Amino acid sequence: MKLVHTIKELRDSTAPVRQSGVGIGLVPTMGALHEGHLALIRRAKEQCGFVGVCVFVNPTQFGPAEDFSRYPRTLPDDVRACEQAGADIVFAPDVDEMYPPGFSATVDVGGVSRLLEGLHRPGHFNGVTTVCLKLFNIFQADRAYFGQKDYQQLQVIKQLVRDLNIPIEIVPVGIVREPDGLAMSSRNRYLNPEERRAALVLRDALEAALSTYRNGQIETEALEREMSAVIAAQPLASIDYAVVVDAETLQHMDRINRPAAALLAVRIGATRLIDNCLITQEMPNIVKL
Ligand code: AMP
Repeated sequence: MKLVHTIKELRDSTAPVRQSGVGIGLVPTMGALHEGHLALIRRAKEQCGFVGVCVFVNPTQFGPAEDFSRYPRTLPDDVRACEQAGADIVFAPDVDEMYPPGFSATVDVGGVSRLLEGLHRPGHFNGVTTVCLKLFNIFQADRAYFGQKDYQQLQVIKQLVRDLNIPIEIVPVGIVREPDGLAMSSRNRYLNPEERRAALVLRDALEAALSTYRNGQIETEALEREMSAVIAAQPLASIDYAVVVDAETLQHMDRINRPAAALLAVRIGATRLIDNCLITQEMPNIVKL
């Protein structure tokens, strides 16, 4: 497996692969890789002859008061993990390589990017869509893999690809959780032991909404109240949002009469965590008890 840092090196490595007709899979990440990321890489390897992983802590998707400078950076470990998971190349550019002096473009898909995370993290999705479009163009991959952990991001990327006719297939991959049900996240390492226990409130809130729905409650407001009550009972937690919305547009719905998703953003101490689940009768529980 190769590690490259420049766009030229990346292109020099992928051009012959493309010419030989081998499918290219792309897994964009910000590094500090865990089993959630590795599931994306493994899925890519099942479906593509050549898999590229991008490890880049993208500054333009962080707000001024967010954790860009202290975001975990563990490139040597990441490279080893990528190799074990079957990646063929890791692209780890520095910030100047992606945003050289004079860079000024921004991709803004509007629509689904305006809601929820878009309201709480202004500019975040423009940073995400801009860097993803750059990566799609740099890799010219056939498929790109995104986790359902970042549910809204996945919908935003689908809108980007649909609206701008980008010739790439977006493949969603299910959420990988710790054995106790906490969704894996690079930010979990910010949690001290007490906060780590408190973070299970996200799982608990989603479980509560799911089981209430399965007991016949289809009013989204009631499900949202239920999630908020579960989170409010945890003193270390504070809610950014806890909603049940249309699973595709993420717009408010009064009643669940089409596919819906429960989406949470909760601060545990100083750490902001997100989680979600589809609200359906068929899905297994979040942690199979
Ligand atoms: P990040 O490094 O946080 O930007 O995440 C890179 C990719 O990994 C995104 O598509 C995420 O949705 C995905 N991802 C992160 N955590 C998980 C997880 N626990 N399960 C599945 N996918 C994940």
